[in-house]
Amino acid sequence: MNSVGVPEIAGNTALLSELRLMKTGAHLPHALLLHGPAGCGKKLIAKWFSMLVLCESRSDAPCGTCKSCRLIAEDAHPDVLYAEHSGKRGGFSVETVREIRSEAAILPNNGEMRMFLFTDADGMSIQAQNALLKSVEEPPAHACFVFTAETVGALLPTLLSRMTAMAVGPVTPAECAGVLNARGYSADEAQPAVSRFGGNVGKCLSYLSDDAMRQAVQTAAALTDAAARQNEYEMLRLLTAAASDKDGLRQTLSLFDLQIRDAAVCALEGELPRLGCDAAAAKALAARYSPRRLMKMHGAVTEAFADLDGNVGAVLTVTALTAALTDC
Ligand SMILES: [Zn+2]
Repeated sequence: MNSVGVPEIAGNTALLSELRLMKTGAHLPHALLLHGPAGCGKKLIAKWFSMLVLCESRSDAPCGTCKSCRLIAEDAHPDVLYAEHSGKRGGFSVETVREIRSEAAILPNNGEMRMFLFTDADGMSIQAQNALLKSVEEPPAHACFVFTAETVGALLPTLLSRMTAMAVGPVTPAECAGVLNARGYSADEAQPAVSRFGGNVGKCLSYLSDDAMRQAVQTAAALTDAAARQNEYEMLRLLTAAASDKDGLRQTLSLFDLQIRDAAVCALEGELPRLGCDAAAAKALAARYSPRRLMKMHGAVTEAFADLDGNVGAVLTVTALTAALTDC
């Protein structure tokens, strides 16, 4: 039973026990990487870990009720610092990294440790990583760096070799439904989200609470279906409609890309990883295309992202993308 302020984490009991053991044995890592797909709970576990490290209770950490736990729950603890994101890709500026480095030299205000969190570190530039390298290589005794990223490959091998990397695993659809229930969604409300995203709590929650996300999911699923039927007109129609809002278009394209990746793995290995939002449509795509052609499709979507980043207009981008997808 969780106490009031402790984040409710679905599944991942082995990972949490391992972190607890590290605390009990006084073998806490000075740099921890939590990796796994978007929405699987990495940030929540990073917060839970900060509570575990700084909790004032010796026997029941994280207790959720001590001053330290309460401050962390409110994102107001002076020894838990989140590195600020910057830039289009959501990375961290070298300036920010330098600030964190000088903060790391300062002794904790309250407890024994200071926590420095780099969330969504996938977009972290090589320069920013290099600027951080020395601090992670030879951290002050009181500093702990926590990173979250979708893939281990997001970080430089030199930086990675200094970290304890832990995979945040998927939870079962039933566990996921349980968390949604605890958040106030009835079983009927939760069901469509769970059927789309299985055990990915974060994605289920944004599907249930965010209209734009729901729209993007519907378009990405329809787009997968149109691609499987090689229906160029339908692809262009769907993409042009999505192009009226650039952020919505990006969201649609990343969801569509997950569908393509699911299909590619399915075509190659016969099993669907289920990162995408529509298993049936991804299977239909896998039945129609070879893995090589699906990788070409993934390349076309990557190129569309580069166009959008390079300020190519949304309509032009989707026209070129439709042509490229039709060629795959
Ligand atoms: Zn506590």
